[in-house]
Amino acid sequence: MAKKNVAKDVPAAARPVFEYAPAPESPAAAGELATSYGHFIGGEFVDSSGSEALKTVNPATEQVLAEFAQGTEEDVDRAVAAARAAFADWSALPGSERAKYLFRIARIVQERSRELAVLESIDNGKPIKETRDVDLPLVAAHFFYYAGWADKLDFAGFGPNPKPLGVAGQVIPWNFPLLMLAWKIAPALATGNTVVLKPAETTPLTALRFAEICRQAGLPKGVVNIVTGDGRTGAALTAHPDVSKVAFTGSTAVGRAIAKQLAGSRKKLSLELGGKAANIVFDDAPIDQAVEGIVNGIFFNQGHVCCAGSRLLVQESVQDELLDALKRRMATLRVGDPLDKNTDVGAINSAAQLARITELAAAGEAEGAERWAPACELPAAGYWFRPTLFTGVSQAHRIAREEIFGPVLSVLTFRTPAEAVEKANNTQYGLSAGIWTEKGSRILWTADRLRAGVVWANTFNKFDPTSPFGGYKESGYGREGGRHGLEAYLDV
Ligand code: NAD
Repeated sequence: MAKKNVAKDVPAAARPVFEYAPAPESPAAAGELATSYGHFIGGEFVDSSGSEALKTVNPATEQVLAEFAQGTEEDVDRAVAAARAAFADWSALPGSERAKYLFRIARIVQERSRELAVLESIDNGKPIKETRDVDLPLVAAHFFYYAGWADKLDFAGFGPNPKPLGVAGQVIPWNFPLLMLAWKIAPALATGNTVVLKPAETTPLTALRFAEICRQAGLPKGVVNIVTGDGRTGAALTAHPDVSKVAFTGSTAVGRAIAKQLAGSRKKLSLELGGKAANIVFDDAPIDQAVEGIVNGIFFNQGHVCCAGSRLLVQESVQDELLDALKRRMATLRVGDPLDKNTDVGAINSAAQLARITELAAAGEAEGAERWAPACELPAAGYWFRPTLFTGVSQAHRIAREEIFGPVLSVLTFRTPAEAVEKANNTQYGLSAGIWTEKGSRILWTADRLRAGVVWANTFNKFDPTSPFGGYKESGYGREGGRHGLEAYLDV
């Protein structure tokens, strides 16, 4: 995929000095793909009871990678029965024995990380630099971390001998397919639950490869089951009467529907939903560092990040300086082939997501905001969107209120710290926020007033398995990660 990132409408001095030679990772490293996949139930790869198949495509080329099964209610029922049958033995194992399996999975993930990283890039569109350096190390870290908890649950702060819940039905999105799987499966298994997981319909491949890893680790049959399909399969799973715990990550609209579906049932529910995070830059912030944080906040993973810093709130007095520096930096972003190790911004995950980003960006212009993007060539095939920023955005604009879930930054300004907090909190969401200032006291003052589950100071998009993650308001409830993440899977 020949492409360059030559910014034509920025001053010559701002253009990258060097052209990068191609540094392609080999697609063959992803290992062999089957032409079609069934589900992973009771430790075996099995066919669906139905005949409907879906296709997953490489979003950077639009080529079909494989077909996979649209899980039926009967498939879900079989998977839940397998998980239920495995529950008695698995939950009765001493924690130290369960830990051995989790440690083993973590080590296999590390050993196979190149394969998994390439497969994730191909199926999702995200740059290899990210899957290799962020997703995969974090996947392994989550299994290591929760392996460490498995024999220490008595000391996790939930009283003596906390009990697992049973079968966990887990539904995940496409933006971090394997990492979301790790966030869900690692704590569930550590606490003695068994699992039926449904990956997103545009990114099923790494979950199916993970099923192989469960076999390689000798995980008892039925402890982890993977059923593929779209929202219909997800709904069948969350509705299943023998599921004791539902863990969902995805859009607020679907989260709301699941909350309604489960109301009145005895199922425990955790929801990790959308976001519209404010990234607040005060006038005393180190501008160059802030620019890196802003770029990381919104262009990392093509902006397909629930906690993306999609609203930049900049103090009026430094607005011009900051925006000049930000545009210069954006002009150096390399957009294109996800398998090129130099690529910063990869492909948009699907045609549907590209259409949504395009529509919201058009609404930004129509409502009067000013659009800017560096001129960069985009590959002819595949789904692409240039890193884009909007200035002159008001609180009422759709691009300031709705989650775009793409590489689009809305810039708003403020004059006083109180105004910054007021604007940051003026959203239906409350997942994350960022603060850039030299003053520690200002960080604490601001963080104290922000209604967001995670607040980063002088950094952004930092993830760690020891740190709880979750939202306020319509960003959901429950926490994943850290000691808090155990609670979602225990009867406490
Ligand atoms: P989505 O809600 O459309 O889909 C998420 C998953 O839910 C998919 O697996 C889908 O098949 C399934 N699903 C769809 N309808 C369902 C139903 N009725 N019942 C059960 N399952 C159903 O969201 P998406 O487009 O895949 O993901 C993007 C969204 O996810 C964004 O809003 C983003 O903010 C959010 N997200 C949140 C977090 C977080 O931790 N808070 C993390 C990643 C993504």
